[in-house]
Amino acid sequence: MGQMHIAKNDIVEVIAGNDRGKRGKVLKVMPKQSRVVVEGINFIHRHTRARGQGEQGGIIEKEAPINVSNVMLVCTKCNKGVRIRTKILADRSKTRVCTQCGEMVERRS
Ligand SMILES: [Zn+2]
Repeated sequence: MGQMHIAKNDIVEVIAGNDRGKRGKVLKVMPKQSRVVVEGINFIHRHTRARGQGEQGGIIEKEAPINVSNVMLVCTKCNKGVRIRTKILADRSKTRVCTQCGEMVERRS
């Protein structure tokens, strides 16, 4: 496995699993586990019990991490999930380039 091309706030498309074809914003990256948390993707339902006074038990819906290999970065020009390569600029900073159209895919903040 190489370096993760996916960064926080990226828009990604899910390419495998139940949420295949859906898009969402990356909320969290976990490089060591090669996992990402994507807004609205891979919801898990967790039942919680009331633990104290004034607290209610119920169901929490929460996004669970998914493997980064199950998502692709969305290129706004191609309007789809694409493969990315890293390009090193003249000032030695790294940028991500869509392998389909050659456009830079900017990081979002
Ligand atoms: Zn592209």
